[in-house]
Amino acid sequence: MYFIKTPFLLKKLFSKNLVWDIPNNRKKIYLNFDDGPTPDVTLEILIILNKFNVKATFFCIGKNVKNHPDTFNKIIEAGHDIGNHTFNHLNGWKTKTNDFIKDIKKCEKYFESFLFRPPYGRISSNQIKLIKKEYTIIMWSVLTGDFDNKITKEQCLSNAINNTKAGSIVVFHDSKKAKEKVLYVLPRFLKHFNDKGFTIGKLLEKK
Ligand SMILES: [Zn+2]
Repeated sequence: MYFIKTPFLLKKLFSKNLVWDIPNNRKKIYLNFDDGPTPDVTLEILIILNKFNVKATFFCIGKNVKNHPDTFNKIIEAGHDIGNHTFNHLNGWKTKTNDFIKDIKKCEKYFESFLFRPPYGRISSNQIKLIKKEYTIIMWSVLTGDFDNKITKEQCLSNAINNTKAGSIVVFHDSKKAKEKVLYVLPRFLKHFNDKGFTIGKLLEKK
């Protein structure tokens, strides 16, 4: 079970330490891709982003970066940002804090970032305390469900469009599981918000 839109109470509970959205009055939306790099999926996504002239933030799994360095380099070369998503895609609730931190450090061997997203959004308050010393911890406001085989690609598109507004952090996946949906939904999602005058971009642009 997951919520397409993050419930208000859940957001409120952690709002001090975690970033759930980035409210702004510039009609700006923040675009993220989790769980890659995955050669054929990520490359297709890069082509779509290039077509719309959009930059995004990719929360990469260390193991996938290790296995697919060429795909990873294409993300960087295209000017997108990257974030740490652990080496083994660990669930913080099921992992001892020491092991969780070790896995994040292992991911750091392959790339550096100041952004971290806990896999499945699962992280303990103890883990937050330690990780926030080095990272800005990014959650999300819209989970598109592109990984969910119980919904159609059309439903996935309307979920994504109907739940997104200025300031939303929208998560897609560049994974095998999400391939069919993300490649259908992404160009339509970008066109929709482009036509409405929104700017779509990566998180926290460095000054
Ligand atoms: Zn993930």
